Amino acid sequence: MKILIINAGSSSLKYQLMNVTDGSVIAKGNAEKIGQETSFLVHKIPGQDDREFKKAMSNHSDAFQLVIDCLMSEEFGVIKSIEEIDAVGHRVLHGGSKFSGSMLVTDDVIEAIKECIPLGPLHNPANLMGIEACMKLMPNTPNVAVFDTAFHATMPDYAYMYALPYEDYVDFGIRKYGFHGTSHRFITKQIEKYMGKPAEELKIITCHIGNGSSLAAVKYGKCVDTTMGLTPLDGLPMGTRTGALDPAVVTVLMEKKGMSAKEVDTYLNKKSGILGVSGVGSDFRDITAAIKNGNQRAALALEMLCYSIKKYIGSYIAAMGGVDAIVFTAGVGENIMALREKSLSDMEYLGIKIDKEVNANMASYLPKKEGLISAEDSKVKVFVIPTNEELMIAQDTYEITQSLKK
Ligand code: ADP
Repeated sequence: MKILIINAGSSSLKYQLMNVTDGSVIAKGNAEKIGQETSFLVHKIPGQDDREFKKAMSNHSDAFQLVIDCLMSEEFGVIKSIEEIDAVGHRVLHGGSKFSGSMLVTDDVIEAIKECIPLGPLHNPANLMGIEACMKLMPNTPNVAVFDTAFHATMPDYAYMYALPYEDYVDFGIRKYGFHGTSHRFITKQIEKYMGKPAEELKIITCHIGNGSSLAAVKYGKCVDTTMGLTPLDGLPMGTRTGALDPAVVTVLMEKKGMSAKEVDTYLNKKSGILGVSGVGSDFRDITAAIKNGNQRAALALEMLCYSIKKYIGSYIAAMGGVDAIVFTAGVGENIMALREKSLSDMEYLGIKIDKEVNANMASYLPKKEGLISAEDSKVKVFVIPTNEELMIAQDTYEITQSLKK
């Protein structure tokens, strides 16, 4: 069964054709700079050199047409007919309070995604453009929407409410929603095989540390708290995002720098975080290299992130009344051993003890950098497990479309 996974951004369209039966990737790629004359698409087939196509794509429909052309190319095509694609799974950022799981795309679901545009003003319109492009070019193929927010729908009200006047929650839906849900859910499933127990019997903290980062407290299979909020800006300091701040910083910045609301938004989302503190960049490969060269601000940025992870882990242990397993995942969580070591240092009194050598050697577990990194006598098990949001989207899409046939 072949599932196409689409992750549409405002000027990009990432895709992956996956064989859901064995989880293998048949082809994948990314169309970038959609809407500009310099737009291009990079198409990748495992075991072959990447192919780049410079072609003006004025909208997502153009981009999707090019994706289909690549997938069906006479020269390097991986499918002969569009009918070979059984279903399309779409990553959708914001499902608001409406969705606690993935949904077959219907008119009602499209309406609901539109209603959530004020909560995800950059992503939801792009996600809709991706869905509409697929519906136009593949009118007989089912589409499934997989929401970044859905896994967090189980949070209790006292965890997701902000202490604003209650009307703001009622009138504008201002509350914590959480993101990266597909990744946190994937990890929650993966941990079962390592722990030899169903997630329903476990208390887990999943740490997704990438360009964007979030932690989730997953108690007995359900998310009870997470670090991101109304938007993906809250929580940990990230590549270019501040993470949690005293809210008064916003008004102080507006006054001191004469910034508009939009300018502050860009400042907090794009110019802050690891980039803002270090002055080096947002990529941890650059940060690690700068630290090795003695850059103090790069070291400070990493220290701040690790301290933040440590504090959230402590608070989630309190919130869940304990923890059985902690998992690190995503680009930074999987690759930066110093981050894992620092974040979990001096936590033996909570039963958390890393095996420093195993942690440091995790990179030698290539190509599969995954496994246990806690010491034998650590009460809490600590793992590195690569995330695979695409596989989760493909599996949801498969299950939902299969159930249609019954
Ligand atoms: P996203 O949040 O965009 O999905 P990823 O999970 O792919 O992000 O993480 C991307 C980040 O992971 C990069 O910006 C980089 O900082 C870090 N990263 C990826 N690979 C490595 C590596 N081999 N070594 C160190 N850092 C890495």
